Amino acid sequence: MESGAESRLAPGLYLVATPIGNLGDITLRALNVLKGVDRIACEDTRQTQKLLNHFQIETPTISCHEHNERQRAAELIAELKAGARIAVVSDAGMPGISDPGGWLVSEAITAGVAVIPIPGANAALSALVASGLPTSEFHFIGFLPEKAGARRSRLEVLAEDAAIAGATRTLVFYEAPHRILDTLSDVEAVFGPETRIVVARELTKIHEEFLRATVGEARRDLAQRDRIRGEIVLLVEAPQPGKVSGGAGEGGTFEKIAVRVARLQAELSIDEKEALKRLARELGQSKSELYRELQRERARLKAGNR
Ligand code: SAM
Repeated sequence: MESGAESRLAPGLYLVATPIGNLGDITLRALNVLKGVDRIACEDTRQTQKLLNHFQIETPTISCHEHNERQRAAELIAELKAGARIAVVSDAGMPGISDPGGWLVSEAITAGVAVIPIPGANAALSALVASGLPTSEFHFIGFLPEKAGARRSRLEVLAEDAAIAGATRTLVFYEAPHRILDTLSDVEAVFGPETRIVVARELTKIHEEFLRATVGEARRDLAQRDRIRGEIVLLVEAPQPGKVSGGAGEGGTFEKIAVRVARLQAELSIDEKEALKRLARELGQSKSELYRELQRERARLKAGNR
């Protein structure tokens, strides 16, 4: 039998945040909604079932993950249009933030279905507010590409974007423990060893840790550990405007060649050689001169001379 509060739930799609470690972070409203909806679309039904069992919630679940979200959306939207109340949850935190949910939301909006957020835990914002790094402007990126070259290119574009933005901003990444050292090496190469960073690990859990240091210090600290465990949010203070020098030096082009090449590669899915050729044409320079400039930039980055 539903309680009064639950039966008053309006029809619609409810995006329900769930804890990122500490079950005490579930909200009263989340519990009411999870009890009151017709069904719960879950990233992983087994994972969510543990949460539901803990809070003695018996609402039926259905899977909705990155591999079936589009197909599932059609089915759920039909139910929603008929007046159903459906909750969406991911394994942890806010659905749709580096998690499934975004597609379903846009389909629901297109179908004229009400979309109702039920706020709660989120790893990125929890890490940011306690990091001590600037919070007035931040850029949430989520996971970086796994491949080394693509990761480095993405960081280079982010560094340039931050410089162009004209204000110090904090970059917020999700990272896996087995990749954190490689990522820190790349951050050090692109932003410089003195860049302030925070590694926020195991938030809301027993072994919660904030490692606040320069990227060089943090990398050395973590490298000394037997094993790096747990879930991680990495925060990077992006350089002040003017700190990133132009590829051609003072008075030269503002954007580095590497950044422009990386952007062309990403936008057009072409290799570095082809990107250099196109950029050379665009700038009216020879390809070999541009290539030499690219090599000089890379040497400067390696030497930490930014
Ligand atoms: N939707 C979630 C949210 O709102 O935070 C994020 C989902 S994403 C698939 C999972 C990543 O979030 C983890 O790999 C880790 O980078 C970060 N994360 C999740 N829980 C965390 C925690 N308790 N402490 C630190 N990072 C966490």
